[in-house]
Amino acid sequence: MKEELEYLKKELARERAARMEAERQVHDLTMMSDRQKTFLLSLQTGVMVEDENRHILLVNQHFCNLFGIPASPFDMVGWDCSDTAEQSKHLFAEPEIFTGRITTLLAERRLVLQEEIWLADGRCFSRDYVPVFIEGRYKGHLWNYSDITRQKTSEIKLKRREEKYRRIIENMNIGLLEVDLQGHIHYANQSFCTMSGYLVDELIGKVAEDLFMEHSNDDKKIILERHEMRKKGLYDAYEVRIRHHSGEPKWWLISGAPIYDDIGNPIGSIGIHLDITMQKDLEINLTQARKIAEETARAKEVFLANMSHEIRTPLNAILGLGNQLSKTSLDPIQESFLNAINTSSDNLLVIINDILDYSKIEAGKMRIEHIGFEMTSLLRQIELTLSQNARSKGLEFILETDESLAPVLIGDPYRINQAILNLLSNSIKFTEKGTILLGCRVKDTSETEQQLTITVEDTGIGIDPKFLGSIFQKFSQENVNAARKYGGTGLGMAITYQLVSLMKGTIEIESQKGEGTKAEITLRFPIGNKRDLPVKEERHVNIDVLRGKRILIVEDNQLNRVVAGTILGTYKVEVTEAVNGQEAIDLMKTHDFDLVLMDMQMPVIDGLTATKIIRSEISRDVPIIALTANALQGEQDKCMEAGMDDFITKPFIESRLLEVILKHLDHSERPAM
Ligand code: ADP
Repeated sequence: MKEELEYLKKELARERAARMEAERQVHDLTMMSDRQKTFLLSLQTGVMVEDENRHILLVNQHFCNLFGIPASPFDMVGWDCSDTAEQSKHLFAEPEIFTGRITTLLAERRLVLQEEIWLADGRCFSRDYVPVFIEGRYKGHLWNYSDITRQKTSEIKLKRREEKYRRIIENMNIGLLEVDLQGHIHYANQSFCTMSGYLVDELIGKVAEDLFMEHSNDDKKIILERHEMRKKGLYDAYEVRIRHHSGEPKWWLISGAPIYDDIGNPIGSIGIHLDITMQKDLEINLTQARKIAEETARAKEVFLANMSHEIRTPLNAILGLGNQLSKTSLDPIQESFLNAINTSSDNLLVIINDILDYSKIEAGKMRIEHIGFEMTSLLRQIELTLSQNARSKGLEFILETDESLAPVLIGDPYRINQAILNLLSNSIKFTEKGTILLGCRVKDTSETEQQLTITVEDTGIGIDPKFLGSIFQKFSQENVNAARKYGGTGLGMAITYQLVSLMKGTIEIESQKGEGTKAEITLRFPIGNKRDLPVKEERHVNIDVLRGKRILIVEDNQLNRVVAGTILGTYKVEVTEAVNGQEAIDLMKTHDFDLVLMDMQMPVIDGLTATKIIRSEISRDVPIIALTANALQGEQDKCMEAGMDDFITKPFIESRLLEVILKHLDHSERPAM
């Protein structure tokens, strides 16, 4: 009993001593001012201070909250924490690692900050372990826990997103390169290595331009300019030619952006690289192909212009002289020969005009007018022109118009006329007996617009359904023998189709072999009024004005000089001839002329140059009229720019020549409005 009492006494004394020691230590540790203590306790992180025997000296409410401890922080002072790690390990995602780590920290007594700990419930804590030494003696330690779950989750999300994009970029074979302000490579991804043919080690620290650019290459300049731009914080994308490790030339598309340090100073740039060699080769080939195609088209245009010029010049002589010949007395046989010559030349002219028209359409140079016109009189004019041809073949010609047709529509009467004439002449050509019908009816009408259907129908040989699909292709004819029999170039339908399309209309062909063909054009026109109609210049032509007038014909082709000279001679004009521009200039310096007819293409000095010289050195006033076999668009503008007054295309008919000459000679007689 005595022994027991003795033992209890000792125990009590030991306990008292321990408590006193703890109190002393608390006192030591809490030597800090009350203000500091309050500061620790009110921290928004979980703080717990233990002595060297792991008795709690101080703990704050936040600590209890974090770990779900129901006790009050004040009651917890003095608690022994030696086996709390073991007791609370179920709270942690990796309990064994947690307890092991606590043991290590306590044994090593070294400061460890911001250690990441994952809890079983998914939260993530950051932990600081601060050993406390007073005068070199270990006095305990401080735990500081904070909940970083939210920050951690967004970090993880960010990482996942980064990972996703990194994988996308990797799969897209995009090369990434980071360089500093001096252009030294700091980072290159695997795709960049594959693209450039270098290993990462061969790239890091090197200057990118030295590796990939030819020294004399302009592209190196581009890269250096881009470096300067990046330094100013600018970014863009550009294409450069580079040299692969193997020496092979490649094309890269580089999109670069500056990179900044934490305080916003530019420290280099990052570039996304894409190998576009294949696309670039394709582009280069395409550009070359387009250049060749354009050159071919230009060559074709020049060829057509030349060919048309070469054919029109003699044709002018044939038509002009044929016309003069028909004014002389001829016996019936001579007259029939002359008719044949005239018809053949007319046909030839149609063919040349077709070819020129088609090439104009193909070159996108066919202009569509928007002027007022009278549809009914246009149809009647066509009837006048072609019904005679139909009747002379024994065919009936019927014109059906619609009462509700607006008196004035806005459109291109010349192209409508051309399209209908093409269809009608085919119908007459391919029909041996029966009827040719030209019809026009209003399909739809509003206050401002009318939609018309123009029909050309025949009872001719018809078209094979197999051929119908390609009827609008150029130079297509159903069969060669028939084509030879009926004549034609296979361009008429192609031109018609293009003209209708240019007028934003449609054309459809229905045909039965042996029964006939029906072509239907649908077009829409705005409704106009009388004021939209072009003013017709009604001239009171006074042929006598020509008598005694001095006209200079400048023309290198002798036959054409004869044609113009013969026509003018009939009206008692004093004709002088010059065979080129130089002769014309010389003559004009010594003689006075009332008017000049000027050919365009001539040896020594051509018509345009001669006109410019005449205008600047000899006369500003004498009328100069171009006579040209070049019917291509733009020719007229060139003449006017050079200082000419008017323009006549060859082959011309007598009345056209006289009309233009009189317009410029007879100033006293202005057009009657
Ligand atoms: P061309 O009449 O000068 O040969 P087109 O382009 O006008 O050229 O016509 C092409 C072809 O379409 C003609 O050669 C002919 O075979 C066929 N064709 C056109 N219109 C008719 C028609 N009304 N009747 C029969 N065949 C036609």
